This record gives sequence, C-alpha cells and structure tokens, in this order.
Amino acid sequence: MSVTSDTVLSSGQWWNALAEERLLMLRCPKCGAAWMPFLPHCPDCGRGPIPEVVESRGAGRLYSWVGVQSSISSPDEAPFVVGSVILDEGAPIYGRLLGEPGAEARVEAVFVERGGRTCVDFEVVG
Ligand SMILES: [Zn+2]
Repeated sequence: MSVTSDTVLSSGQWWNALAEERLLMLRCPKCGAAWMPFLPHCPDCGRGPIPEVVESRGAGRLYSWVGVQSSISSPDEAPFVVGSVILDEGAPIYGRLLGEPGAEARVEAVFVERGGRTCVDFEVVG
C-alpha cells in the first residue's frame, strides 16, 4: 500500500486509477479508518485531518449481496449480482460479483471494461 497524495481524492482521479487497474481509497491519518471516495472527512472520527489517498490491495470479504433482475443503465447485462464488500483495509465498497456468493466469502477485485470505462467487480475466490 502506498500513499499517492495528501489531498482528497477527486472523481477524475478515482476513474483514472481504475483505468490503470488501481483501486484507491482514503485513509484517516488520525484513527486509521479507511473508506472509498468521496466523503471528504473520516466517517469514524468526523472532521479530522485531511485524509490520505492510498491504494487498496483489492481483496476483502463479501458482506452482503443482491440480485439485480433488470437494470436501466445496463439492460443487456441483467441479471447480475451486486456485492457489498469490506476490503481488508476496512473500507466498504460495492461492485458486481463474479461467482457464487456466500456469507463472508473471500473476494478479489477484477477490473473490467463497461460502458466505455474501467469498473471494478469482485470475484469470489474462497
Ligand atoms: Zn478518523
């Protein structure tokens, strides 16, 4: 995990990093909490110091999931499953799930091209 900046992560930085298959998150220098963009302040200790932008390893555990039967934005891709993942660094994130979901299943980030940009899905690995 490397610190890439000392400023709050912008939407453009987030998408540019995904295009490079890098999953960025924010980390509180005060309490160590990690979260995904784009909250400007730590969700655990509130208005703390400026969060650090760090790179996640992209591995975590499946927290919950839902089946999407129809999608306005991706009508040709439904049905699919969206998972709520808690990354090993502690940050929660949502992404499409590849594989059979299960309680607390191990997942890893997979970078896929969708709608003209790189998105992050999660593959069940254990
Ligand atoms: Zn904090």
